[in-house]
Amino acid sequence: MSVRVVARIRPLLKHELDKDTIVCAESAEGQNPTTVRIPNPKNDAETFTFQFGSVYEENATQQQLFENEVVGPTVKHLFNGYDACIFAYGVTGTGKTHTMRGGKSLADRGVIPRLLSNIYRRCRKIEKDAAGATQVDVSLSYFEIYCDRVYDLFEPPEKRTPSGLPIRDNHGKTVVVGLKEMQCSTLKEFEHLYDQANINRSTSATKLNAHSSRSHAVLCVKITQTTESTVRVSQVSAIDLAGSEDNRRTDNNKERLIESSAINKSLFVLAQCVEAISKKQSRIPYRESKMTRILSLGQNNGMTLMILNIAPTRSYHLDTLSSLNFANRTKKIEVNEVENEPIFRNITKPLAATSIGGASLSRQPLRPLNTAH
Ligand code: ADP
Ligand code: MG
Repeated sequence: MSVRVVARIRPLLKHELDKDTIVCAESAEGQNPTTVRIPNPKNDAETFTFQFGSVYEENATQQQLFENEVVGPTVKHLFNGYDACIFAYGVTGTGKTHTMRGGKSLADRGVIPRLLSNIYRRCRKIEKDAAGATQVDVSLSYFEIYCDRVYDLFEPPEKRTPSGLPIRDNHGKTVVVGLKEMQCSTLKEFEHLYDQANINRSTSATKLNAHSSRSHAVLCVKITQTTESTVRVSQVSAIDLAGSEDNRRTDNNKERLIESSAINKSLFVLAQCVEAISKKQSRIPYRESKMTRILSLGQNNGMTLMILNIAPTRSYHLDTLSSLNFANRTKKIEVNEVENEPIFRNITKPLAATSIGGASLSRQPLRPLNTAH
């Protein structure tokens, strides 16, 4: 299966109401839109069109995007033992953070809090249906990649090592070494942790004289389903990427240019990876940036959804076009859906073990979860 790419065009902001809009969504009669149309920057009379899995227009709600794109496919897969990855891509100011995190009100909540709410609801249902024979644990890790360095967002900024955390390969998956993994069994606990981590993200951003849109934020949610005999672990990553704008076109001062070249480098490497994969080249330059190693698009990241965020105004024209071209290549990438097999946890059998004296692992008592959320 390939990466699913959907586009979301954000509404005009208050200060943009008098601006010229150049992006529009189109659909076949009676269908939901699947096409984005944009003029050729060199000749307004000519337009380009791009096809995606779905196109969400300015009036699309957070609920619609979540229900259509995330609940059925992702959450269902996750509980069946598959991994998933959801990421937002786009220029700064196009709605990536709004899409992934969203606002405070219930209606404004973005993909991430809705995903967690849904996961907890399913956990409770599975536990109830299994009448205590299955236990589901949820744990979180959350980090940002800033200037090609990885920082734990569950740590306050003053505790960070300036050089960041190292990353390693672990059986084909890239892991961040030393990252905090927080057990989190209710939505309330999640909200508290997530809000605090987002404060960590923005305070460190201010200290470094940068905006948080200059870092990639990666939330990993690990789900462990334990029965008397098996343990099955699957993971979903939800990523709010740094802004994809071309900084050669913005007049950055020197300090910001250093930062943006590192941000640009990772997004540039991502674009190269996407191109290499789509051309079926044997060498994919994943290892040239930490973000691409971690995202490792087209490797073992399971079902993958990319949300391309777009602003409708002319001021974003060139960047919007380059995002659309990137998204167009991304949708052709094939992803591996590797099922995380359940691991047998108590040993009643192994012949080998029996022959050395019938050694068996002790059966672990199940830790009760807090059921309220
Ligand atoms: P990014 O993270 O891509 O830099 P933001 O998510 O911060 O962009 O969005 C920029 C601004 O646009 C914010 O003020 C945000 O609230 C607003 N915005 C983005 N998408 C929407 C939307 N679908 N509906 C309403 N406001 C939006
Ligand atoms: Mg943002």
